Amino acid sequence: MQQQLTIRLLPSEAVSDETIKDYISNHLSIKKNSITGLTHIKRSIDARGKQPAILLQLNVFINEPFTGRARANPLLDCVSRDAKKVLIAGAGPAGLFAAIKLLEAGIKPVIFERGKNVRDRRRDLATLNKEGIINPDSNYCFGEGGAGTYSDGKLYTRSTKRGNVNRILDLLVFFGADENILYEAHPHIGTNKLPHIITEMRKKIIDCGGEFLFEKKVTDLEIKNNKLTGVITSGHDKFDGEALILATGHSARDIFQLLHQKHILIEPKPFALGVRVEHPQQLIDSIQYHCPVRDNFLPPASYSLVQQVDGKGVFSFCMCPGGIIAPASTAPGELVVNGWSPSKRNNPYANSGIVVSVDEENIRPLVKKGGPLAAMEFQRAVEKKAYNAGGGRFVAPAQRLEDFTRKHHSSTLPRCSYLPGIESVALHEVLPGYIYDSLKEAFLHFDKKMKGYFTNEAVVVATESRTSSPVRVPRNTVTLEHPQIEGLYPCGEGAGYAGGIVSAAMDGERVAEAVAQKILRK
Ligand SMILES: Cc1cc2nc3c(=O)[nH]c(=O)nc-3n(C[C@H](O)[C@H](O)[C@H](O)COP(=O)(O)OP(=O)(O)OC[C@H]3O[C@@H](n4cnc5c(N)ncnc54)[C@H](O)[C@@H]3O)c2cc1C
Repeated sequence: MQQQLTIRLLPSEAVSDETIKDYISNHLSIKKNSITGLTHIKRSIDARGKQPAILLQLNVFINEPFTGRARANPLLDCVSRDAKKVLIAGAGPAGLFAAIKLLEAGIKPVIFERGKNVRDRRRDLATLNKEGIINPDSNYCFGEGGAGTYSDGKLYTRSTKRGNVNRILDLLVFFGADENILYEAHPHIGTNKLPHIITEMRKKIIDCGGEFLFEKKVTDLEIKNNKLTGVITSGHDKFDGEALILATGHSARDIFQLLHQKHILIEPKPFALGVRVEHPQQLIDSIQYHCPVRDNFLPPASYSLVQQVDGKGVFSFCMCPGGIIAPASTAPGELVVNGWSPSKRNNPYANSGIVVSVDEENIRPLVKKGGPLAAMEFQRAVEKKAYNAGGGRFVAPAQRLEDFTRKHHSSTLPRCSYLPGIESVALHEVLPGYIYDSLKEAFLHFDKKMKGYFTNEAVVVATESRTSSPVRVPRNTVTLEHPQIEGLYPCGEGAGYAGGIVSAAMDGERVAEAVAQKILRK
């Protein structure tokens, strides 16, 4: 028989399936060898009490053969030689998952990626981190796998469509992710493992008849009678296709500019902007686990904070336990930070974006003067100011946390994981006034929720500005096509329909289904 159980264990008791079986055999008064196997349905940490506990939801096989867990696999055959061809701009999660879905429908995807493949991309990241020199087409946002490749690979999503989320997670496991992402309450993959998974996805797509063109930037769209017929790429090459899935991410400003120049409708969109804050990981562990030193059986602690300040949301974003602050800029002279972690999250720092919503009310006056790209230009102006304040070479302006709220100059700065380096700067002179005021107020409230958070041991680094796209590319809610241009399918985070790896992947699949439905009907 199979029995579902929910149990609460000490971290040391939940360390392996063997120790869990010991517990279950005692708990159910059955022999340990009658338990033929178990699958995890959900695993979370309850750190509310003095002694943190692990909560497990399990499916236990008792006296019957263990069959494991049923999982989705991509149903991929090689597409036929005369298969219809769909163009995809961008090899981020949206573009890659769209390609797999198209192949499942028997359509050939041709993927254009401005950046390099995951392996060659690493060299450009090293040059950025060590020498402060950026390649505008190959960086933390651009290149194979998209912005998420060198990230923490957190796989949380607010989507309630569990079936679709599970399929994305199953596919990631199929391509090499650890099975624990299927049941951890806060699954993550880690920067060291993501490139391998992305490489496996590319190999499968090519094996099944898809095509990748790296270092091929889409620079123009071919449109005849309001119908998309193809794209022009760097090198002035022309490619025809039945449709274009535009999955170029939130940092492809040249694409937003191109659409605007061609009078293709785009809209400004609220986003969020702020800073990244880094604490010693040991401090966050001691706050969250209520003990001076973390139990070896517990993972480095994370946190999630939110505060309303005068009607504005201030919230933690992309928290990376045991992580590194990364330079996520895409152009010279603009400073953007974000964070990543390796799978073990074993760096001595805990960093998180702390951002303020830039909402309709803030955007409206900008748009009156500057049109639909005004929110993007506002974002860019803050990034430029931060770059200049740091003094160049992607050195980031930074301040100790208590000094930040008191507008005190930090005479020294703590050690920081940000490799290009940090420079002491009064950040109220860099950030827009309402962003600074909201952050300052929120930091004081955060200390009430996490006693010890507000400390000069923490460092505030500017700017966290690419939280989501400042532009939306509209689309029909049913056909998912752009309302003016037949065959143009805005997709993923850049078009304003996703926020994170999983939701971008889900949007890629959804758009590919819509494309397939249309072109296979013809
Ligand atoms: C450092 C960092 C850490 C992050 N951590 C996490 C995390 O832990 N969890 C999470 O869920 N999300 C994280 N994110 C966000 C996540 O990466 C994005 O939400 C997600 O990648 C969006 O997917 P996408 O496919 O829509 O766009 P992107 O991933 O941005 O992909 C767009 C792709 O299009 C390419 N491109 C752009 N312009 C052109 C053009 N003109 N022609 C051809 N190609 C083009 C780009 O090079 C890029 O590869 C992180 C982001 C960064 C930068």
